[in-house]
Amino acid sequence: MSATRSRETTLLRFLFTLALGLFIAASGSHAQQSASETPAGGEVNIYSYRQPFLIAPLLEAFEKNTGVKANVIFAKKGLIERIAAEGLNSPADLLLTTGVGELTAAAQKGVTQAVVSETISQNIPARYRDPEGHWFALTRRGRVVYASKARVAQDAITYEELAGPKWRGKICIRSGHHVYNVALIAAMTSHLGEAQTEQWLQGLKNNLARKPGGNDRAQIKGVYSGECDLAVGNTYYMAQMMLNEKNPEQKEWAASVKMLFPNTGDRGTHVNISGMSLAKNAPHKAAALALMEYLSSNEAQRIYAETNHEYPVKDGVPWSAMVTSWGSFKADEIALQDVAAKRKGASDLVDKVAFDDGPSS
Ligand code: FE
Repeated sequence: MSATRSRETTLLRFLFTLALGLFIAASGSHAQQSASETPAGGEVNIYSYRQPFLIAPLLEAFEKNTGVKANVIFAKKGLIERIAAEGLNSPADLLLTTGVGELTAAAQKGVTQAVVSETISQNIPARYRDPEGHWFALTRRGRVVYASKARVAQDAITYEELAGPKWRGKICIRSGHHVYNVALIAAMTSHLGEAQTEQWLQGLKNNLARKPGGNDRAQIKGVYSGECDLAVGNTYYMAQMMLNEKNPEQKEWAASVKMLFPNTGDRGTHVNISGMSLAKNAPHKAAALALMEYLSSNEAQRIYAETNHEYPVKDGVPWSAMVTSWGSFKADEIALQDVAAKRKGASDLVDKVAFDDGPSS
């Protein structure tokens, strides 16, 4: 009898524990859901192709202003595919990228949603955003020529000249398929037409000192070491090298080159951008929109300018002292959506001339 009662007690205890467990699980998931619906003082999840140290000062300022916690997942590749694979359950709110290529790829893959914001439209000029609102540029960088101070006398250059016989065996550049170069070739296609751009790219390939590879700074190092006389790279790398306390040898690379802004005398220097898109299924949409508006604001644009030494997209925001010291800058005013539309053709040209195989002779 007492054995039966003890079995009943055990069973009751078990059922009670089970019910309690289910209750806790249910209320737990409910709590999580309501937290994710709260915009102010909540959180926002960022999938970033931009390195965390570059965006940290902006996110700290945003957190301080709003109380919204910004979580960052950083990867060099695969974030767009990850958002697509996560589908409806994706925790991604905002995608930050290093080029227009990633932004248009994300929009084409259907992982972004349109944003209509009076604030953003006022802050970011029309040529630096998608007419449909799926992406926005945040910063601009010139794609310039770094020339050896010791071996190059001229102080002006055009992209077209890079294909001329004068520079045979003297140019270093990273892979033709990198987003920075695809955007440059796409802009060339827009200006010169496809046939002439193919000729130009073939000429540039013939002038390479070595097979394309490495990052932009590795090309400038090539000038420093005497492997090449000219390197193609983005402007902010000059600042990153000059201020690099962790790798002081980069200061010497920087000191060995001068920056030439191509095509200053005509259409202006090609500009590539970093940018943002709102994720299709953003669980913290209100917070993400607040962050997008913040990133386009005077305060955030100034932080970008001061800490990353990029050119702000917002008119009237001052450049950093170092960027100002590089002199005036005439940007090619081609609309980004035109560059984006020519990217596929540009990428095909890189394959067609076998650019990444390097110089043939
Ligand atoms: Fe970069």
